[in-house]
Amino acid sequence: MTASSESGNGAPQNGAAKGARSPADVGLANNAAPPPTAPFSAPPSSPESPATTVKEAAASAPEPTAEPATCPACGEAEARLLFETTDRLLRTTRNRYRILECAACRLIRLDPPPRASEWRTHFVKPEPPGTKSLAERIERAYRALVVHDHVGFVIRALRNAGEADGIADIGFHRGELRRTLAERGFRVVAVDITPEAAATSRKGEALPLEIEGSEATLAPGSCAVVTVLNVLEHLRDPASCLASASALLRPGGRLVLQAPNANCWQFLTLGEHWSGLDVPRHLISFRVPDLEALLDFCGFEVVRRKFFSLRDNPASLATSVVPGLDPAVRRARGGRENELASLLKTLLYLLFVAFAVPFTVIESACRAGSSVMIEARKK
Ligand SMILES: [Zn+2]
Repeated sequence: MTASSESGNGAPQNGAAKGARSPADVGLANNAAPPPTAPFSAPPSSPESPATTVKEAAASAPEPTAEPATCPACGEAEARLLFETTDRLLRTTRNRYRILECAACRLIRLDPPPRASEWRTHFVKPEPPGTKSLAERIERAYRALVVHDHVGFVIRALRNAGEADGIADIGFHRGELRRTLAERGFRVVAVDITPEAAATSRKGEALPLEIEGSEATLAPGSCAVVTVLNVLEHLRDPASCLASASALLRPGGRLVLQAPNANCWQFLTLGEHWSGLDVPRHLISFRVPDLEALLDFCGFEVVRRKFFSLRDNPASLATSVVPGLDPAVRRARGGRENELASLLKTLLYLLFVAFAVPFTVIESACRAGSSVMIEARKK
């Protein structure tokens, strides 16, 4: 239930499908580049890169170790140290990381980013299927309730695209949104990013994607809406993911993007305690202008922004303040709890979430919500 619950803490796992390919004809090269000082203004190095399978990508790419200490958006080496911290939330590592702000474009990044081989170890396995305790059933009911906010946003984007169907959801598995849309009669193709693909993605290459549970491929230009929710902040090269999304969309199709917003009051007031930093799983902490520059660079025009997410913003504040009560955090930390303690902690957490609503509504009204949802039109 942390800020990245749709993707990150819900554990990226290797997709079962093989044979699905990412679209090869990614059109980054045709996009007009914004001014050279803007974030994400560097031209991609190899726009014609062929589609590869995840295995090929993982095997062929050398493991990034000593990353060049430059900004992924503008290439600037100078940076300001904001904090030095560790995995405060899930406690998967004691490694120390620096949170840097680029001296030129102000993009906030993690330094050093985790190596490709350790990437998976910082995520939590998905919940095992089977009988649920009362606490787990309450948590599931809560999540099923709050996801309707996202569902409404996606359906409106579909209507704005002038289409009735054709949604692809790019993410790291996990499926409340996919399930809920499907229950409402929409066809949702789940397109997965594997940890290997995410960790080894290269600038200018479309991200290798797999279609969940299927040998099928998704034709370029076949989707009316592509959702990329709480994904970009985990990637070394977020432009590669948006290139894949762009290739899947038909002209005029809509991208629905969500990411934590580093320009929020929660970050301003709580600093390194803000759960949206999610060290070391979030490699980049975007502010809204960073995202909009990236979208422009990747050939999208922003048509709608929403700073309040019923699912993410109150939970983000509650998790920042009382991380030890968040059910997802507790699962990740792996402490033993009896059923009564588990129930009480989950109920107390939901009480904190409820108390967080007024503050998060106000910060969102001031365009400083802890997450932002963007609808962008493919140019
Ligand atoms: Zn920069």
